[in-house]
Amino acid sequence: MRARFRRYVVCCFAGAALAAPVSAQTRYTTIVIDPGHGGFDRGGIPGQRVPEKIMTLDVSLRLKPLLEKAGYKVVLTRDTDVFVPLGARVSMANSYPNAIFVCIHFNSATRSGANGIETYFYSTESAPLAASIHSAVVGGAPSENRGVRRRGYFVLRKTTVPAVLVECGFLTNPTEAQYAESNTYRQKLAQEIARGILNRPALAARTGYTNRSSRVDVGLQPFLDQRFVRESGTKHRRHKTSTTKKSSSTQKKKVSSEEQ
Ligand code: ZN
Repeated sequence: MRARFRRYVVCCFAGAALAAPVSAQTRYTTIVIDPGHGGFDRGGIPGQRVPEKIMTLDVSLRLKPLLEKAGYKVVLTRDTDVFVPLGARVSMANSYPNAIFVCIHFNSATRSGANGIETYFYSTESAPLAASIHSAVVGGAPSENRGVRRRGYFVLRKTTVPAVLVECGFLTNPTEAQYAESNTYRQKLAQEIARGILNRPALAARTGYTNRSSRVDVGLQPFLDQRFVRESGTKHRRHKTSTTKKSSSTQKKKVSSEEQ
């Protein structure tokens, strides 16, 4: 009883220090931001005009101070234009047991009309965070809502902390590329991502790593695998890997294993 009381007191104190909305949030004191790609990995598709790696880094660098201001310790997997292997990014996130992992990306497709914002998660525990970030980003952007989706991307599947990957629009879409090239828009994206992180609902405390569960708290929208749609293949392949073994029965998409 005494131990329980002591823990309660500690939680409350930490909660006050971080100004987190609910005590359940005190578990997560660090945000690891992962700017997609970098160095020789430009991101996107061959010949793409706007380099994804530059845009992801810029949004991440804008996001960092917003989260620090809210009292979080913020770590970036890269803060310059360098290549960091996905395994190293995951290890970095997993080295902070009280972390939330947020990967920042932009999308691309061979069909220039492909557009919109989508957010991915894998573990059940990450679903509320994905929903919160997605709803904030979509709410603040003029782009289409492509939904929150569960996918076994390497960086989501291998992390042992809540992890979300947000695709902030298609750089191959002329309109969305134009948005992304605006400083004001990238700042707005950072602000909305921060808002989504800060306003997230309580994330379930983990008693073990249970990313096999298919129970989620968000309505999954139908997934359109554009690789099988003629002339409209999304080419965001850096993070796709085989999910067949671990994914739920409803999500046994045959994702290629190009990333290990
Ligand atoms: Zn990317």
